Amino acid sequence: MKKLITAVLSILLLSGNAYSQKIKLIIDAGHGGKDPGAKSKAGDKESDLTLMMAETLQKIAQENNIETVMTRTKKDQTLTHEQRSGYKPEAGYKAYYISLHMDKDKNASTRGNKLYYNTKAVNSGVSVKLADRISSGLERINGNKSKKEDSEAIILKRNTIPSVMVYYGYATNLQDVKMAKDPAYQREISMLIIRTILETRY
Ligand SMILES: [Zn+2]
Repeated sequence: MKKLITAVLSILLLSGNAYSQKIKLIIDAGHGGKDPGAKSKAGDKESDLTLMMAETLQKIAQENNIETVMTRTKKDQTLTHEQRSGYKPEAGYKAYYISLHMDKDKNASTRGNKLYYNTKAVNSGVSVKLADRISSGLERINGNKSKKEDSEAIILKRNTIPSVMVYYGYATNLQDVKMAKDPAYQREISMLIIRTILETRY
C-alpha cells in the first residue's frame, strides 16, 4: 500500500503541467567597462548599480529554482549589443530576458520607472504582460510613476524569448541611487521580477 501511495504521489509530481517546466532567466546588467551609462553627480555609475541589482536578481532567481545566465559579471567588462543579446528558445526551458538599467536626465530631480519591450519581436505578448506587471509593482515599491514603451532597442529586436528592459529609477537622482544601493531594496525589486516571471507563463 505504501509503495502504491508513493508511486501515485510521484506521478502527480511529475505530471506535466506548465509549472513543472524549467525556467531560465537571462540577466543583463546594462552597460559596463568602457560604457558606464548614466552617472550621478556623486559619481555613481549606472553600470555599477545595474551589476549590483543583477547579482541580487540572480540570487533570488536561484533560490526559486530558476536557472540563470548573466551577460556581464564584472564591472570592467565591455559588451556589445550583440554580445548581450540574440537569445533564442531552448528545448525543455521557458526562457526570459531582463535587462537592467537606470535612466538619466539633466534635471537631477527627475524620477520615474520605464519598461521597454518590442511588440514586433517573437513572444512579444509575454513581454508586454511582464512589463505591465513589473511596472505597477515598481510603482508600489519605489513610489515613482512607471511608463511603458514599445522600443526598437537592438537587444530587444535580437532576442526571440520574452524580453523586457527594466529602468528602476534614475541614476541622475540621488534618492533613486541611494535606494538602488540598498540590499533590501534590491531584494524587493528582484522578488517582484521573479514573482512576475513565475506568474507569467507561456
Ligand atoms: Zn542604461
